Amino acid sequence: MTVGLETHVELKTDTKIFCSCSTAFGGEANTRLCPVCMGLPGALPRLNKAVVEFGVKAGLALNCKISEISYMDRKNYSYPDLPKAYQISQFDVPLCQDGFLTLSSGKKIGIARIHIEEDAGKLIHRDGEILIDYNRAGVPLIEIVSEPHIESVEEAKEFVEKLRLIMRYIGVSDCKMQEGSMRCDVNVSVSETDELGTRCEIKNMNSIANMAKAIEYEANRQQELLKKGQTVLQETLGFDEKSGKTYPMRTKEDADDYRFFREPDLPGVHISLEEIENIRKTLPELFDAKLNRYINDLGLEKRDAALILKYPKVAEFFEKASTGVKAPQKAANLILGVIFAFLKTESQKEEFKLIISPENLKELVLMVESEKVSNHKAKELLEKMLSEGEGVLAQDIKALDDSELDALCYKAIEENPKVVSDYKGGKEKAIMALVGAVMRASKGRADAEKAKAKLIDILK
Ligand code: ZN
Ligand code: MN
Repeated sequence: MTVGLETHVELKTDTKIFCSCSTAFGGEANTRLCPVCMGLPGALPRLNKAVVEFGVKAGLALNCKISEISYMDRKNYSYPDLPKAYQISQFDVPLCQDGFLTLSSGKKIGIARIHIEEDAGKLIHRDGEILIDYNRAGVPLIEIVSEPHIESVEEAKEFVEKLRLIMRYIGVSDCKMQEGSMRCDVNVSVSETDELGTRCEIKNMNSIANMAKAIEYEANRQQELLKKGQTVLQETLGFDEKSGKTYPMRTKEDADDYRFFREPDLPGVHISLEEIENIRKTLPELFDAKLNRYINDLGLEKRDAALILKYPKVAEFFEKASTGVKAPQKAANLILGVIFAFLKTESQKEEFKLIISPENLKELVLMVESEKVSNHKAKELLEKMLSEGEGVLAQDIKALDDSELDALCYKAIEENPKVVSDYKGGKEKAIMALVGAVMRASKGRADAEKAKAKLIDILK
């Protein structure tokens, strides 16, 4: 089995690719439009600079060569969601080429190209009618085309998951598959020889789980055909979630069918080496670098590092909670053991909304490290903190246990004979000097009322 992926990623620029309409998701249908994104006669497109920058960032993060000059082209096809009857895309000279993404096995999956293009509108099927919302028309996309280097469902899943994280960490897209801001087309072929078999393209996979099912089904289908001595037709397929089967949509169009030609209303996209270097400087720590740092510098278990990095907000929380602690793994254990049990669903982990701060967790970890609380006790306290807030730490951890308080009270009495004799001589207020001594010795962890009661009791 050989798989190649074409992934469309919606860029989170503020405005569309060729006009200044908003790219915000949703909104009342057909309210984020203008003559340019509606393709009205005479309206002229102007390329959004941020789209090029985001595209370059994506290319650099995927080890691509960036073209100092690339071109916009018209891809002609007629469909109601495409108001101009052509999509402005890039054909023979894309913005980025020849990169790769490394899987955890070390295997490199080639990235043939990344080009920038505009999204189409959305068809809404309702009560037997088809409605069209053009708000999405003109929203910027990058299309990331992999080489056919993927050879199993597992590799395909890892590729998409990692691609998604890479894009999210560099901040070019939210990559929400359920909202359509990341969509995959999958090319699948099977062959008994080294030569590639005829491929079928499955369109618009909207989740990694569905993609995996579709690849599995399609590879089996093609294998069965070949076993029977039949041939695989080059087709474009859809995937039916309910039946778990692929079905033919149309026979595959060739590039010729799109009648590509240069977009006459836009000049070539020039970007200098200096500009490319400046963009490189704005890149945050890349996903692989982060993963390596977690494992090699912070000493996390591989599996734990990957789990934390799966959710950017968890990673951010972890980094804050573990700076300055001796063993970041302890913070990781508490996050993965206790907090992940508390935030059960994927979307809860994704949002990672907690009533405690990373600093609170750090305080807890430091207490474990200074042996003020045991690992076991720390888990219990964290569980309580997640529903009751950081106050739990102050009440529970900071409070001394009774034997510790006893010892500090006796010590205060021993070290302050003058105060003790004043108190015994009837100066009741003198007891406060002893309470103060206990508070100082406990570094504020003692409860003043409890200490006072204890001192009075001892001095009776
Ligand atoms: Zn517009
Ligand atoms: Mn495309």
